[in-house]
Amino acid sequence: MIAIGGGGYVPARILRSFLKQTESPNIPIQAIGLSLYEQLPSTHPSASSTPGEVEQLGAKVTRTQWLDLSSLGEMENLVGKRILIVDEVDDTRTTLEYAVKELQKDVEIARQKLGYEGEKTVFSIFVLHVSFTNPRGKRVLIETQNKNKEKKGQLPEDMLNQDRYLAARTVGDVWICYPWEATDIEAHDAMALKQSGV
Ligand code: 5GP
Repeated sequence: MIAIGGGGYVPARILRSFLKQTESPNIPIQAIGLSLYEQLPSTHPSASSTPGEVEQLGAKVTRTQWLDLSSLGEMENLVGKRILIVDEVDDTRTTLEYAVKELQKDVEIARQKLGYEGEKTVFSIFVLHVSFTNPRGKRVLIETQNKNKEKKGQLPEDMLNQDRYLAARTVGDVWICYPWEATDIEAHDAMALKQSGV
């Protein structure tokens, strides 16, 4: 499994327990760190003290951390394997597009180095939430769930067609606060307890 940090860490760890097969070792979880930003000129109102540019959530993905496979036998270890990429939310899909493309590139280089012609490396994706909105900002029908055309980032069509993209929930255009990022979790727990049926 490859967890995209930080949001993918907790879901990946939970998934590992469900995917574990008796008699088999735990599935290794590798972490990659990606952050979304776009560069703006320093004259922009939100510009920082960094001359020439400022980071703003948006268009470009940078790696803050990449695979460390030194204990698993380097990239060659991924060749011919089934790899599950895990993140918490697929919003614009920019991050997932980047992760899939870069991982595919790295694996292909390793495959060529090995001269391996066997089973292809197969990438799948799991996210807790995928967001979709229609032009009026309303939640869209579940049938449109995995369509690339609704998203800025694109995933391989064969991945979508072969059900190798799984989202546990489809949501509208909302900001999701996950329990692991809440600094006031007791207050949330208290509110949840007050709700009927909890
Ligand atoms: P994307 O590249 O799909 O636009 O965004 C992916 C990343 O943005 C996620 O991994 C997550 O860190 C962050 N993100 C996007 N939408 C949300 C949201 O509703 N809640 C939280 N907590 N993070 C989000």
